[in-house]
Amino acid sequence: MAEAIELLPPGLAETGFAETGQAGTGQAGTGQAGTAQAGTGQAGTGQAGTVRGAPGKRQVRPPRHLADLDQAGRRAAVTELGQPGYRADQLSRHYFARLTDDPADMTDLPADVRAELGGALLPPLLTALRELECDGGTTRKTLWRAFDGAYVESVLMRYPDRVTMCVSSQAGCGMACPFCATGQAGLTRNLSTAEIVAQVFAGARELAAGAVPGGPGRVSNVVFMGMGEPLANYRSVLAAVRRITDPAPAGLGISQRSVTVSTVGLVPAIRKLTAEGLSVRLAVSLHAPDDELRDELVPVNRRWKVAEVLDAAWDYAAATGRRVSIEYAMIRDINDHAWRADRLAGLLAGRLAHVNLIPLNPTPGSKWTASDPAVAAEFLDRLAARGVPVTVRDTRGTQIDGACGQLAASAVPARPEPAQRASVTDRGPTTRGHDR
Ligand code: SAH
Repeated sequence: MAEAIELLPPGLAETGFAETGQAGTGQAGTGQAGTAQAGTGQAGTGQAGTVRGAPGKRQVRPPRHLADLDQAGRRAAVTELGQPGYRADQLSRHYFARLTDDPADMTDLPADVRAELGGALLPPLLTALRELECDGGTTRKTLWRAFDGAYVESVLMRYPDRVTMCVSSQAGCGMACPFCATGQAGLTRNLSTAEIVAQVFAGARELAAGAVPGGPGRVSNVVFMGMGEPLANYRSVLAAVRRITDPAPAGLGISQRSVTVSTVGLVPAIRKLTAEGLSVRLAVSLHAPDDELRDELVPVNRRWKVAEVLDAAWDYAAATGRRVSIEYAMIRDINDHAWRADRLAGLLAGRLAHVNLIPLNPTPGSKWTASDPAVAAEFLDRLAARGVPVTVRDTRGTQIDGACGQLAASAVPARPEPAQRASVTDRGPTTRGHDR
């Protein structure tokens, strides 16, 4: 694992993790990551302010948007603009139910009011720079540029029975996992609530317009498995979850049960999430059952160990009644040993958990590659033999750099070519074992 250690420092240095040894604590641990952002109910001016991202850097805050605000915040915002409160409900209906953010379409509003409210509360946040598709157009990846030039990606995946949007929660990521493209590039900044919601909105609008093969449709699932560590941007992510799941027209009306928040294992934030009383699915990116290896693959493990992370996960499962997804990227000769499968089975047997084995999406320039299929099959068998539900994730979108982080990285010439990330599909067809 010496080579793994050598791969780590760039991200660590950038996040301040190296100095404090507490990646994520200043953010997720205290829930303050989003305090400077356009947050729920904030009666801002709509002007750009500063936002916390990587420590020591000051960035300009994204403009305030309707989707940053809860319903009370929206009413307060329109009242401040000299309009009656019900205008907020009209705007909400247009954005969250009719899926339009073009004031010209809002013909139930007087023209001057449209222009004023649209300008103040529906500023453009993300501009599509590139769109790539594969699987006959049913997997579509978008590279977005934010108002400040930050890049993020989202992926729409249409299956026969559902449509999943994989969204980014941060531009870049500070968690520095050495096998992950985004982790190599470091953190640029947290996304605002509305920037997260805008990714789902865009997919929902494409589907509603019939632009995705398969006819008009809806987004049924959202997974926070794009760029970034969602629980390190706790406040904005939580507000985004509410906007995504609140019934229309307050929100997009997607079931909480169909939303997955994936984390490296920021224990205080998992506990905070547990206390929210939501029924979203929690995914934990474990990747190793032992601290020695996990310290390298998921560096935040140096702060919160496997046992602590799983304790928090089991408490989440107990509180919500929902199985926790354990994500495990299969890396040849690194974490795919039979004894590690047995160790993992020992940790998970009898728990409310499901393992997703993800063939590593090998990264250009890295020595690491996906496990040999026979080795991966044995790993799966060993878990299944102990009664641990396990599936192998389908890897959609590898042809289009489905590979989150890769597109954004190649759009930033100043940055070194980072590693490629796995295509971030939600679960794929079950090969063996139980479905979750
Ligand atoms: N930061 C969050 C969510 C984003 S990553 C987290 O770590 O959970 C979504 C999933 O893709 C995580 O399980 C992550 O470990 C995995 N992943 C990242 N790079 C990968 C790669 N090259 N191959 C396979 N899986 C990868």
